[in-house]
This record gives sequence, C-alpha cells and structure tokens, in this order.
Amino acid sequence: MDGSTSINIDGVTLRLVVERKRVRHINARLRQETLFVSAPAGVSQQILDQVVPDLARRLVRRVHARKVNTEEDALALVRKVAARFPNRPEVAHVEFVTTQMSRWGSYSSRTRTIRLHAALCDMPRWVLESVVAHELAHVSYLDHGPAFWALVRSVDPDCDRADGFLNGVSWLARNDGQLPPVTRALLQGLSGCTPDDGSVR
Ligand SMILES: [Zn+2]
Repeated sequence: MDGSTSINIDGVTLRLVVERKRVRHINARLRQETLFVSAPAGVSQQILDQVVPDLARRLVRRVHARKVNTEEDALALVRKVAARFPNRPEVAHVEFVTTQMSRWGSYSSRTRTIRLHAALCDMPRWVLESVVAHELAHVSYLDHGPAFWALVRSVDPDCDRADGFLNGVSWLARNDGQLPPVTRALLQGLSGCTPDDGSVR
C-alpha cells in the first residue's frame, strides 16, 4: 500500500497516501479527497488493510457532520417554515446530529435549538420541512394534544404524508437485517411511482 492508490469509503473515493514513519501508531489525516496515513515500519500490509477503512470512515463521517451543519441552508429553511406560523417562533440554532438519535427531531425551549437527525438531509425537502414544522409547533405546545395537531396541520397540510414516509423509513431501518435477501434485492429494484419524491439533495 506504499505510495499512492485509492480507497472507497461509504461511496466516497479517496486518494490514499501511505507513508512509513517513525511513529508508534497508525494515524490518518483527511485533506480534501486525500487520506494521508502514517504507519510504523513494522506494521504489515494485512493490518493496514484492516485498520485504514475504519480510520477513513470515522474521518469521512466527521467531515459529513461538519458539512451538513455549516450549510447556511438549514437555518434558512427553518426560517421559511417558521414564517408560516401565526406567531412566528424564534429559533436560534439548528443542529444536524450524526451521533445516535432516537427521534427525528427535538426542540429545546431553553436554548431555542432544533436538533434534527442527520439522515433527514438526504430525504426529500418536504419531509425535512415537516419535521421542522412539528418541532416548531412545540414552541407553542409541549404536548401532542388537539391544539398542537391543529397548529401543525395549519402550517403543514402534508404532515400525515410525511409521517407515513418517516414511519416507512424507520420500519426499513429496523427490519433491514431481518428481510430475506431476495426481498431486499426486490426493494432496491423499485423505481417508485411518485416522481415528486425524488428531490433528494
Ligand atoms: Zn412532538
């Protein structure tokens, strides 16, 4: 692996540069699309092949977290949704979370921060907007009572459709491992029948 080659991590192709150095551990740095690895002279190629993908994946995901959180986009989108509310809620921060999160979104009235599951970035915009509308409605109502849902429906008529979409995604995420390989392969062959759902960014 000495010299320059390439490696594919989560669909991202990186140029890989491995240098043998007087270091004690295998270290990796990611600069744009190049992964620089420094390894002690005694480490075998086999060990490198095992270790490098994990190091690379961690760095790629860290970059992804930084990227989705520095896009001006998120706050602009949240403000656009907020403008639909009769009492426009104030939001100070929007944060996409790349660590484990059990819900699609949460809102803190103390910090006026909306936290969103990072997977929402890859879903159609109207689904992301629906989660934002739900969390912003919590600025007025903390519970899920009738007044809460009336407000949600008034600003997001698509909320039931978005809930259905998200329930489907959750179901697939929970069951993917248990699905027979044939079913999984058949699902991947689906091209969908709702063209307006394809607006992933
Ligand atoms: Zn809620």
